[in-house]
Amino acid sequence: LITEFQRGKERDNMQEKRWGKVGIFSLKAARVRSPRESVILQDVDEPEPKGKEVVVRITGSGVCHSDLHIIDGELERVKYPLTIGHEPSGYVYKVGTEAADTVRTGEKVVVYPTFGCGVCRHCLKGNENLCQRAISVGFETDGSHAEYLLVKSPRYLYPISQLQPSEAASLSCAGVTVYSAIKNYIIPNSYPGSFVLVIGVGGLGHIAVQILGKLTPAQVIAVDVDERKLRMAEELGVEYAILGGKRSSVAEEITRIGGNDISAVIDFVGTDETLRLGYDSLGIQGNLVVIGAGGGILEYRGPDPKNRKITGPIMGSLIDMKEIVEMAEEKKFLIKCETFNLTEIGKVLEKIRYSEIVGRAVVHP
Ligand SMILES: [Zn+2]
Ligand SMILES: [Zn+2]
Repeated sequence: LITEFQRGKERDNMQEKRWGKVGIFSLKAARVRSPRESVILQDVDEPEPKGKEVVVRITGSGVCHSDLHIIDGELERVKYPLTIGHEPSGYVYKVGTEAADTVRTGEKVVVYPTFGCGVCRHCLKGNENLCQRAISVGFETDGSHAEYLLVKSPRYLYPISQLQPSEAASLSCAGVTVYSAIKNYIIPNSYPGSFVLVIGVGGLGHIAVQILGKLTPAQVIAVDVDERKLRMAEELGVEYAILGGKRSSVAEEITRIGGNDISAVIDFVGTDETLRLGYDSLGIQGNLVVIGAGGGILEYRGPDPKNRKITGPIMGSLIDMKEIVEMAEEKKFLIKCETFNLTEIGKVLEKIRYSEIVGRAVVHP
């Protein structure tokens, strides 16, 4: 008669042979070894926090389109081999000796994913997203599509109580980027009777349309090539939903609705076509805010009689993160997410590549 205990022992021995380690546990992480190689699940060591560092046990990690750009080898800054994932949320697991006074194990948190140098003029203002020496998880250091994440300091941890980590994960990167763009480039530009055009209502766009509805007097026009996403946008309060794609009438429809009062456009796609559509739709002194890293090129001929502006913000500040986490905790907007097991990461990335996810995809180990 083989007992449970013996079976466990045998399994331990097998694991030891296979992984060279004792114990039935093996820590998995979604890793990319070099550019243009597919993502693999690999065993990694548990990180050990030193000084101010904190280890977070990840229970939700948002999957961003940038993960695909990393796999496809399109970003120069990336340091391979690497665990991808930069939208981390979970529970504080281990705390370095110097952080013991500020954070407790077991705290439910969402993590700001970019660690600045802390001393440059941008970092001193909390704009660690602009720090030229910053290190981002999932880009230059191991990221959050894993069981544990090493965080450089407790100042990157934002406690949550109402939200689950699977929902909160998307605030990091997606949420903070959207909020910061709206706060800095769209609110100052909008007025009663103005319109904001949102191109692409996926993982970021669906958050954007809700925040625009809450924080600006503008009416929202949403364009997407996917009818399901447009229906979702309408449910979330969008006034005008337009099916995009190759139809030549898209630009006309937008102009018919917004005329010269389209005060801002947020482009979550960023291809040649969407940049052109966005820029051409803008009214007087309108702002084109480009967030989608679609690699598109916009031909510009100045001076411009409409004096339009183009900006391409990256993420948001630590303060922006605090504000968007507060808004989400107060349920001022909904985060639509589809959750998957970390083992399904390959499938999830393909779904994102072919725009099959409605809302945000989140993996949990
Ligand atoms: Zn991202
Ligand atoms: Zn800095």
